[in-house]
Amino acid sequence: MTQDLLRAISCADDYDPDSMSVEKARRFIRDFLEPVRTRESLAIRAALGRVLAEDVRSPCNVPNHDNSAMDGYALNADDLAASGATTLHIVGTAFAGKAFADAVGAGECVRIMTGAVMPQGCDTVVIQEHAQFKDGNITFGEGVRRGQNLRYAGEDLKRGQTVFAAGHLVRPADLGLIASLGIAEIKVWRKLRVAFFSTGDELASIGEPLAEGQVYDSNRYTLYGMLTRLGVEIVDMGVVRDDPALLEQALKDAAACADVILTSGGVSVGEADYMKQLLNQLGQVVFWKIAMKPGRPLAYGKIGNAHYFGLPGNPVSVMVTFYQFVRDALLVLMGQPDPAPVQQFQAMCGGNIKKAPGRTEFQRGILSANSDGKLKVEPIGNQGSGVLRSMSEANCFIVLPEPCGNVAAGEMVNVQLLSGFV
Ligand code: AMP
Ligand code: MG
Repeated sequence: MTQDLLRAISCADDYDPDSMSVEKARRFIRDFLEPVRTRESLAIRAALGRVLAEDVRSPCNVPNHDNSAMDGYALNADDLAASGATTLHIVGTAFAGKAFADAVGAGECVRIMTGAVMPQGCDTVVIQEHAQFKDGNITFGEGVRRGQNLRYAGEDLKRGQTVFAAGHLVRPADLGLIASLGIAEIKVWRKLRVAFFSTGDELASIGEPLAEGQVYDSNRYTLYGMLTRLGVEIVDMGVVRDDPALLEQALKDAAACADVILTSGGVSVGEADYMKQLLNQLGQVVFWKIAMKPGRPLAYGKIGNAHYFGLPGNPVSVMVTFYQFVRDALLVLMGQPDPAPVQQFQAMCGGNIKKAPGRTEFQRGILSANSDGKLKVEPIGNQGSGVLRSMSEANCFIVLPEPCGNVAAGEMVNVQLLSGFV
């Protein structure tokens, strides 16, 4: 599907590139995302962090047999006296992986271990603590329920059941679950390729001495970290000077090899003019002033078949815009049709926050639980968009919606855990 991105966006009702809400920008971007469509078969371990290209169905029941959930004695509840104690004769032992081979008759029971297949003729397990052994016989008290302490065949998964639908992101528990079905290989979408570079005449790369007025390029490192956690293939293109010819070449190279291009810097007022010109020669890119803080300027578009995100230069803005826009977009492109939004929950704010209505703010905070178990979040002192230390110290964003004004200590605020982003 090719769409005229610029036309589609400018035709939208109340489209205002100078005051784009976070939600609206997300929706616009969402409409242009076409997931990768190449499948590959991988050994399950290699599929961690990948998105399933096909449903995974259970080829068997899990567990495969009725088995005991506890160490104890297997018996038939029909043998238990209606009232008072019952004594049964013990005829053998069932181990996990080594069943009791014979049928169990009336008046008999079997010692059974956790995970052992239920012997034929038994329907109930009594834990060993509730039984007394004497001279080859076991005495059971009252109150035994038929079927207790049993795990039934297919209780976890039934044969033929869809265990995971296509589009599911494979996590550690899923690897175990797929292994429990005896499945060795699964079909996943190929890895997404993301090329990125930093722009700026003031940037030095680590290993170089820092001349006056220069800063070390940190954005490529935070981007490396966030992209690696998402499990995409990365193409790190280094630092590109603010020179239209060099930028043009870098963007062309990136578009030729990647599904997604990320740049940082060069989209703020003053620098955006020649970037705009350049990007409009190469593709279709819109420049937004998002109603958010930090992360106001953001460019999005297509260069050839590649999606382009022009992130702001400030190090905190890069991370916030990545987490709020790029992450979801990458998950969609990776084949997840509906990525679960990062959970927001409420915590009591531990300090006063100054905020003007009109922008969504993503303040950095430290979330902890009080002694009474209630969540409390402390905003970090310096919220400057260049202060990367605030991201390192924080464990969450305090999300203050557009209409919200000042927040007083003691009020409830929404938070998003940073660990929820990966
Ligand atoms: P820009 O958006 O290019 O105007 O950059 C805004 C601010 O972010 C400036 O102070 C830049 O020096 C800084 N900055 C831009 N790119 C990087 C980078 N890759 N690493 C660290 N700081 C950067
Ligand atoms: Mg710059």
